[in-house]
Amino acid sequence: MDSKIADVREQIVVIGALMYARRLTDSAGGNISVRVGDRICITPRYAGSQFRWQLKPEQVVVADMDGNKLEGDGEISRESAAHFLAFKTFPEVGAVVHGHAEHILVFASLAQPMPPVLECTRKFGEIQVVDYAPAHSMDLAQNLIGKLQGQEARIRKQAAALISPYHGLFAFGRDLDAAYDTLERLDINAFVLLNDHAYSGKTGADISSRMEEGIAAYFPGSGEIRPAPAGGAEK
Ligand SMILES: [Zn+2]
Repeated sequence: MDSKIADVREQIVVIGALMYARRLTDSAGGNISVRVGDRICITPRYAGSQFRWQLKPEQVVVADMDGNKLEGDGEISRESAAHFLAFKTFPEVGAVVHGHAEHILVFASLAQPMPPVLECTRKFGEIQVVDYAPAHSMDLAQNLIGKLQGQEARIRKQAAALISPYHGLFAFGRDLDAAYDTLERLDINAFVLLNDHAYSGKTGADISSRMEEGIAAYFPGSGEIRPAPAGGAEK
């Protein structure tokens, strides 16, 4: 278990730096957590503002399931409530990645859901926006967990993601690779959708349904390739 925790702390450092370099989060915040048995490894407070996501493994905090710090140089991230609540509520969740990803922030600032416009993001369905509650609050954690209900199959397969209004994205994955991959894919989806709209004037809903029609034309009569409805479990 100790060597597993050491490995995970190193992986979190690598993913944090990558997330920052790829503008999937910023100096203002973001956080990463991973379940290892009955322990949670989670990024420290001020990972962005003081350390610009250049962390050392010993700064990644190791905590119990109730959020009590057991080890680590820093304090637990202020936004940890949603992470711990997700791990406690859903055995499917192996990692949580939260980022202020630059293109997704457009949807967050408009409090608008984001439809998939690429083959690689269809499996996530339309990314829903949770009700507003301030960053770091237990209300926000509960709003996120409420909207994860029914998306367990998505988490088992890869991840489910939600937009926190005026704030950012939370990806709840089966493991760290899956959660990070989800954040990156969804930010690319946001980038493409915004440019599609600027280029063609079409709405996200139009672009998404045109994609579905294009794909369905290849699979006539098959319902299997249709994405699950927003919030619904994927078959
Ligand atoms: Zn945040």
